Amino acid sequence: MESRPVIASILTIGDELLIGQTVDTNSAWMSQELNEIGVWVHRRVSVGDDREAIWQALDEESRQAQIILLTGGLGPTADDITKPLLCQYFGGRMVVDPDALANVKHIFEMLKRPLIERNLKQAEVPDVCTVIPNRRGTAPGMWFEKEGRIFVSMPGVPYEMKGMMKAFVLPRLLAHFQPTPVVHRTLLTAGIGESFLAERIHEFEWMLPKNIKLAYLPSYGMVRLRLTGRGADAGLKAELEAQFNMLQQLVADVMVTNEDQSISQVLGKILTERGQTLSSLESCTGGYIGHLITSIPGSSRYYLGGGVAYSNALKISTADVRPETLAAHGAVSRETVVEMAEGIRRRTGSDFAIATSGILGPDGGTPEKPVGTVWVGLSAEGRQDSSHFHFRFDRQRNTELAANHGLNALRKFILG
Ligand code: AMP
Ligand code: MG
Repeated sequence: MESRPVIASILTIGDELLIGQTVDTNSAWMSQELNEIGVWVHRRVSVGDDREAIWQALDEESRQAQIILLTGGLGPTADDITKPLLCQYFGGRMVVDPDALANVKHIFEMLKRPLIERNLKQAEVPDVCTVIPNRRGTAPGMWFEKEGRIFVSMPGVPYEMKGMMKAFVLPRLLAHFQPTPVVHRTLLTAGIGESFLAERIHEFEWMLPKNIKLAYLPSYGMVRLRLTGRGADAGLKAELEAQFNMLQQLVADVMVTNEDQSISQVLGKILTERGQTLSSLESCTGGYIGHLITSIPGSSRYYLGGGVAYSNALKISTADVRPETLAAHGAVSRETVVEMAEGIRRRTGSDFAIATSGILGPDGGTPEKPVGTVWVGLSAEGRQDSSHFHFRFDRQRNTELAANHGLNALRKFILG
């Protein structure tokens, strides 16, 4: 069967996007979801709350795409002009939608707030659209069809847009277009640079069949490798699986997981399976490692807690770091991070502990300990280890790197 991709455009609307006040996360999320159902996003466009610009973008995008997804400009304020504009664009007139009206009234009752005219307006929709219910807010979404094209208008608020996409838009698009399936398999590597990986697997990449593509996704010291298969034949999945197995063998020594997971997810899985626990005491990463660990659902099963010990005094009082150690080696040293990890593990009674101390910049470096120096301490019963890193980026990136490398060092330490 010949497979023709279904093409989509994403049009995000709002002045705030153009001045950089709001980062357009909607496009990225929608692209992922569309890709998942086999729809190819060929363009993402942002325009301001500007009549001419929106109209022109609608014309342009519908020339090439079969699906045009819009977000933004549906609020009750004067700067939000998308709805009346769409009404005119598709040649309709505004009517009150009873379900949308009931929804607005219900929300205001729950909030115990008076309903004003401006909010009632939110229940008005063009009579030429299918209304998309908004279970997470007041502005309904709108589904238009014109000359074989689908146009979907949704609120800019990410939480509301996502609700509509999941419950209504994606299932409908799937039923309408029956796009060619796309299959992904992803693995995560650590401790090897993108170019070295490419060097190692370039022959494999070369030999890949035409309908399977390899993508490199580097991020903070780790590289994700993704194989994507596109095609309608039943053998695709098996073929992709075979290629993925081959890829896994080629990177076995640097592979962290053969699933699309973050390092903290992998760590969580390991600790859950082993029924063991973890604590942490952070200096330079300021709690970021704790945040990454606790952002995984179910982390309470293995993470006992810990804290941030930024000052020397707190390193002493929370983890019994010896003042002599600090005086002799400084806070950023192997000796200190190991004592921090030992101390927090003993105090919390966890099986494992991780500690960090470093200089993330932009100032504070010395010739012996330049900016970017990070020590990670690890502790288990009768066993200690440490890792030393040297990052050379800005403070934010150095923090991300320290956390990721620290968690990966911890993973290896746990696995022995
Ligand atoms: P609106 O539907 O235009 O009233 O948008 C409401 C709010 O949603 C805006 O104030 C933004 O904070 C947010 N928002 C709008 N567009 C986007 C976008 N593309 N990505 C992320 N957030 C957005
Ligand atoms: Mg707006």
